[in-house]
Amino acid sequence: MMKTFLVGAETITVRTSPDLEAAGAQGLYADADGSILIAGTISKEAQESAFCEELTHCLLSRCGRPGLNEDHTFVRPFSAFLYQVLKQGGFFK
Ligand SMILES: [Zn+2]
Repeated sequence: MMKTFLVGAETITVRTSPDLEAAGAQGLYADADGSILIAGTISKEAQESAFCEELTHCLLSRCGRPGLNEDHTFVRPFSAFLYQVLKQGGFFK
C-alpha cells in the first residue's frame, strides 16, 4: 500500500513496511521526508489505528506543536478518538 495526501503544501507519503514491527514499532512518522510508515505485519485494524497515531504526529508537526507532538498523554487519546470517528464513519475501506 502506498498513498499520498497533502497537508498544506507538503506531500505526505504513506507506506507499509515489512520490518517495522520487528524494530518494535507499529508506525513511524518521519518529519524530514514527510513519510508515514505502517507495519505491514500487523492486523488491518492495528494498521488503521497506527495510521491515526502517525497522522496525529504529522499534523501536530505541521502545526508547529513539537511539545504536544511528543506528549503521548495527548497523542494517544486524540488518535484513538480520531480512529473511532473514522472507523465508525466508514472512512476505512
Ligand atoms: Zn506516537
